[in-house]
Amino acid sequence: MPLDPARTVAELRELRELTGDENGAQRVAWTETWETARAWLREKLDGLPLEYERDEAGNQWWTLRGESPRAVLIGGHIDSVPNGGWLDGAMNVMAGVEVLRRVVEEGTPPVTVRLVDWADEEGARFGRSLFGSSAASGTMADQQEIRNRVDPDGIRWEDALRDHGVDLDRALEARRQLEHASAYLELHIEQGPVLESMKLPVGAVIGTFGVERWQITWRGQAAHAGSTPMDKRRDALAGAAKLALEIRDVAARAGGGAVCTSGGVVCKPGIVTSVVETAVQLLDQRHMDADTLATMLREAREASERFAREEDVEVEWDKIWSIQPILFDERLVDLADDAVREVAGESHRLPSGPLHDAAEVARAGVPTVMLFSQSLRGLSHTKLEDTEPAHIELAVEALDRLTSKTIAWVADT
Ligand SMILES: [Zn+2]
Repeated sequence: MPLDPARTVAELRELRELTGDENGAQRVAWTETWETARAWLREKLDGLPLEYERDEAGNQWWTLRGESPRAVLIGGHIDSVPNGGWLDGAMNVMAGVEVLRRVVEEGTPPVTVRLVDWADEEGARFGRSLFGSSAASGTMADQQEIRNRVDPDGIRWEDALRDHGVDLDRALEARRQLEHASAYLELHIEQGPVLESMKLPVGAVIGTFGVERWQITWRGQAAHAGSTPMDKRRDALAGAAKLALEIRDVAARAGGGAVCTSGGVVCKPGIVTSVVETAVQLLDQRHMDADTLATMLREAREASERFAREEDVEVEWDKIWSIQPILFDERLVDLADDAVREVAGESHRLPSGPLHDAAEVARAGVPTVMLFSQSLRGLSHTKLEDTEPAHIELAVEALDRLTSKTIAWVADT
């Protein structure tokens, strides 16, 4: 079968029909709909000379044995957020399916080629992303926390995992999957506006942003909204509000694509007749450079302490999660750039703001690169997520070229 990128678009539409509704994609990991999508994917690959395996972390693998056990991996995730888009994750997997069909057609490749459908990239049900890829990369170190996490219905994650054939105590055994991995490739929608603004269909990704995620608790004093003079207030929300604006300057000073987001503030008592006693604020900061990211965090923290003094409140910082910036493999970024230029005439190198399974694989020391396809209006994690079919097809072609170049590169080294 020669490469047929139009088939990828048709299959993605088929998957949308099968696992979406009027509100969008519903392939949330560890649910029936997700299993339906995964079974559908298995059917698509039935009949090809591939070895199938579901590993200890629930990742699905299809392996085309080559002359060497050294392997080129193509990855994606078929899970989605609730009411998600039709392309996030699924396009990666289906493009990989199409590329595999083409590679199979050409006979035994010089190196092994594998497709992986990572389990639970989104973390939509239990609030922790990259389950399957972090198990395979060996970075999963929070099994105890995972065990005790519950979904909004009070179902423990450990129990949901068991219902889907995953024993949490054995999840890290998925590490052996990366033993012979010599390169990892992942195509994804950009989920941002950069390529669209440059009128480019596809780009090469240089790495993923480092992330600092913190919960900031401001403590003041609840007081009557009518009887407490303005200069006698200890208003917790005032500190949070000042910080929410200050982070704009923190990002501007850092430059280089720095982003800071105060994604929420929950106030107590939260009634119209009281000064706010506690404000719990969420902060997310991202940058491609580790030192700059550390400076951004320090500046936000110092500013919060100044605001706490100004407002006569207390402030406390608790880390939610962080990850270092991850730079992709230079040689593979060059190959990705070449592949994009061959199919689209022009390429662009850009960093990824969102995290991806590729970041986990890169952390495990496997040379990694990603391709981004343009996202219309930069929208994702909504049913409005979209990419022109012609651009999806170009992205499939770019992944195909990149796969060929990578196979040759791995075979040569
Ligand atoms: Zn994704």
